[in-house]
Order: sequence, then structure tokens, then C-alpha cells
Amino acid sequence: MLMMDPNADPFAASDPGAEEEEISTFGAKDVTDLSWVNLLNAYTCTECGRCTSNCPANLTGKKLSPRKIMMDTRDRLEEVGKNIDTNKGGFVDDGKNLFDWISKEEIWACTSCNACVETCPVNIDPLEIIMEMRRYLVMEESAAPAELNNMMSNVENNGAPWPYNQMDRLNWVNE
Ligand code: SF4
Ligand code: SF4
Repeated sequence: MLMMDPNADPFAASDPGAEEEEISTFGAKDVTDLSWVNLLNAYTCTECGRCTSNCPANLTGKKLSPRKIMMDTRDRLEEVGKNIDTNKGGFVDDGKNLFDWISKEEIWACTSCNACVETCPVNIDPLEIIMEMRRYLVMEESAAPAELNNMMSNVENNGAPWPYNQMDRLNWVNE
């Protein structure tokens, strides 16, 4: 965490209680990894479709519908709920997760423009679910698309998304 927070005190005594609260996984693989707000959103969705009608990815023919994201989340949640009821209060692994409902193609088609969130009449946030699923793919499975991996390694090595050394940045001045 020191690398992420420039104001952190490197000599501060660590809190043993805080260690236990460390997040062990990142993002969402299944509905159990989502927040209660995401889950309540899934039940609150009226399926009106305004989000999908304003989604630029959907309008340009990509395989993404924020309305479907909410309905799929609810469908999976229903299944997990039935599983818990059948098994007397405990969830028994059924070998499935939210990615059986929502594909990676859908997840990566999102431009994160926030139009679906702004247009929803009941303030539902499909984007947050998409972002959590992306976070899982990138941080737990290292399964980002190749274009993104190239960009991220360029940022890491060159301090910019482009594949040029920092020393060469001003070469264009002499052209
Ligand atoms: S606009 Fe909101 S309520 Fe309507 S389908 Fe989309 S998420 Fe559901
Ligand atoms: S944030 Fe993603 S899902 Fe929502 S409208 Fe924009 S492209 Fe579509």
C-alpha cells in the first residue's frame, strides 16, 4: 500500500487487526463478490430498457446491453438464493459464476461512458457491475485484452501509453 499512497508513513506501526481485513480477492467473479447495492439494483431494475437505448456500445452493434447486465445479475442471484435455501443456509459450489451469464465480450464492449447510469429513471448503476467484473479479469486472471496489456506495459515502462522511450519524447521538435 505504501507504493499507492505517497502520504503514508512508512514507519507507522502496522495494525494487526487491519491485516485481517485485507481484501484477499479483487473484483467480482460472482454475485457474492458484488456489493449489496449492486444486488438491490438488480432487483430494482424495471427492465424499461432506457439504459440500453442510450448505450453507445449497443447502438453501434456491440454485444452489450446494460439492461441485460442487470437482468443476468438478478437471474444468477436468484439461483444462488435457491442454492442456499436448498442447502439449509449454506451455499454449495455449483461450478457456475456470473461469467456464465455475462460474457467477457460484453464486459469489454463497454466504453465506461456512464450514459446508462445517467439515463436510468431509478438511479441504477450497471457500470459498476461491469467494472467489478473487469477488475476481476485483470487483477485475478490477468485476462485483459492484448491491446490493454500493451498499453499498461507502456505506461509502466515509458510513463505513457505509447511505445516510445521517455528520452525520445521531444524528437518531433526536430522533424
Ligand atoms: S434504465 Fe434502469 S430501470 Fe431501466 S432497464 Fe436500465 S437499469 Fe433497468
Ligand atoms: S457505461 Fe458502458 S454499458 Fe453504460 S451506456 Fe456506456 S458503454 Fe453502455
